[in-house]
Amino acid sequence: MSKNKSPTGFLVYEGPSVLDPSVQIAVIVNRVFGNATNAKTGAMAQSFIIRTDMKPNEAVRAKQDHAICGACPYAGGAGCYVSIKMVCSVYAAYQRGAYLKTTPDTVGQLCAALTEVGMLAGFRAGSYGDPAAAPYGVWEALIEPVRRAGGKTSGYTHQWSEKYAYMGRTADPAFRSLLMASAHGPVDALLANAEGWRAFTTFGSADELKDTPRMVMCPASKEAGHRLTCATCGGQSACNGRKSLDDRRANVGIVVHGSNYVKGLATAANEAAGR
Ligand code: SF4
Repeated sequence: MSKNKSPTGFLVYEGPSVLDPSVQIAVIVNRVFGNATNAKTGAMAQSFIIRTDMKPNEAVRAKQDHAICGACPYAGGAGCYVSIKMVCSVYAAYQRGAYLKTTPDTVGQLCAALTEVGMLAGFRAGSYGDPAAAPYGVWEALIEPVRRAGGKTSGYTHQWSEKYAYMGRTADPAFRSLLMASAHGPVDALLANAEGWRAFTTFGSADELKDTPRMVMCPASKEAGHRLTCATCGGQSACNGRKSLDDRRANVGIVVHGSNYVKGLATAANEAAGR
């Protein structure tokens, strides 16, 4: 790396997966310098959770992505919306040592400083992979400084519920203050609320979403007219968890089109039934 060149990204965790300690994972943070291209999230730093021993597309194909995705209904090739090609690029860069190894605190402080000067809108936890696969302290160090600097943060976990958690290894409850529970349908959202989470919820139709109490539509969705991105979203709808027990903000909902919703629900239902 030349003296003046910004690093491609940062390696902030390398160690066992919390979801399956027999598997080594890495957490990569990139797009720190405000060049995010994701249309939904805008200029937010991105973070990827990957296995260190297997190409991401191979892990999906072999259904070996549980160590980074838990029992997410979209894992194992069942309809995850993230571009696996992009994740493979991150893996390749990791393998050739392109990411600067440093601490989550350092990157959290860097993101906060860039947020303060307007070069970064915020931080996305788990652009690929479930943040709960890495220890809570990693994410706290990345997210809290950005929040204090006035930046937006977003993140989601399926590990709030045993039915989505690999081997029943549910997320550290402390994640409730940082992440949304990924839920599917109104009942799932209520269950997440009962467990102390705010829920980001998929619906099969806009009508179902609108009929659900305490549910706001994601303003980045097609149904909401793509009014905002995660970088500009805030207040009621921001996907930044439940900051404290006094945080009574609504859940957030989105309509999922095509077969993914049905497939996801079917998988979740099968898992819940132990099939
Ligand atoms: S509700 Fe806001 S933060 Fe959440 S996904 Fe939609 S735009 Fe992003």
